[in-house]
Amino acid sequence: MKITAVESMLLRVPTPKPIALEFPQQGLVTTLIHTDQGVTGLGYSLAMGGGGAEAIQVYLETRLKPLLIGQDPLFVERLWERMYRADRGIKRQGVAGYAISALDIGLWDIVGKASNQPLYTLWGGMTDRVPVYGSGGWPAYSLDDLINEALRYKAQGCRYYKMKIHDPDPRVNRERVVAVKKALGDGVRMMVDVNQKLDVLGNIRQAAMLEDLDLVWYEEPVLADDLAACAEVAHAIKIPVATGENNYTRYEFRELIERRAARYLMPDVCRANGFSETLKIARLAAAHQVLVSPHVVHELSLQVLGALSNGFLAEWIDWAPADLLEGMPKCEDGHFRISDRPGHGLALGPDAVKKYRVSP
Ligand SMILES: [Mg+2]
Repeated sequence: MKITAVESMLLRVPTPKPIALEFPQQGLVTTLIHTDQGVTGLGYSLAMGGGGAEAIQVYLETRLKPLLIGQDPLFVERLWERMYRADRGIKRQGVAGYAISALDIGLWDIVGKASNQPLYTLWGGMTDRVPVYGSGGWPAYSLDDLINEALRYKAQGCRYYKMKIHDPDPRVNRERVVAVKKALGDGVRMMVDVNQKLDVLGNIRQAAMLEDLDLVWYEEPVLADDLAACAEVAHAIKIPVATGENNYTRYEFRELIERRAARYLMPDVCRANGFSETLKIARLAAAHQVLVSPHVVHELSLQVLGALSNGFLAEWIDWAPADLLEGMPKCEDGHFRISDRPGHGLALGPDAVKKYRVSP
């Protein structure tokens, strides 16, 4: 099989309230990989709020696309190495990680379609049904927005809810968490997310104020660059630490694991160089009693979780309009059943390109 063309486009998709209070739209750098055998792979990377999406598309078009044309898409590992090693100067991570991810996801979609199997069984299946946690709770929400969102996830069977703790005053964060916990009642546990906003001492003070609330995890305490500081927090606080949505490679995750910097790792398949690298990160975690709970894009990360013995929960942010993607899994009693369609099982909706495309 040969790759004959790679198309890329940027989709801008409006979000509903209350998520729109924080992110009025999302950016999807989307790619279609065409082959000489009529199989097409769909890949995309989600840029939260649309930030950086244009740069990701330019990088993909100018640096990566030429490396794939004429190649056999079934050799994903070879093509991943080709893309990853092609550009060791300007690249590093971030923009390039998002761009490689979109293409790697599209290549795996071709492999799944060519073998007529969903990816999770192709990788060796563990489960076809994955529990999720409801995620949101941004600082732009009023307390009512926050509680209503948490209750909406609970009504769909979610047994976990995650919210942000971004107020500069740690007491305010505690009050908001306590109010949500009270509204949710027994049967739903919570997680909190710092999103890199504090230093080591700030985290120790904040976490001490939340210790009695039976939280599942305390997320992304410090700048994602500072793995040593993350480890220091993890060793100092009583709540298990989760991190990794802004780490990109097996090398960074190896260091997080070796430093015992987190009990839960959260690679994002759209940032951490695609399915290929996320699977490597997850296998590495399995050797160290560390659980994997992938970041956002649950419709894609379900495939990864379906193949892991150390998978924990998928993150569900319920933002995507019904006409964006066909094959979106539905929540049933707090779980998603993984699609049995070949590949990742998703396709762009018939009107999605016309409606949401903003770039040529
Ligand atoms: Mg987070």
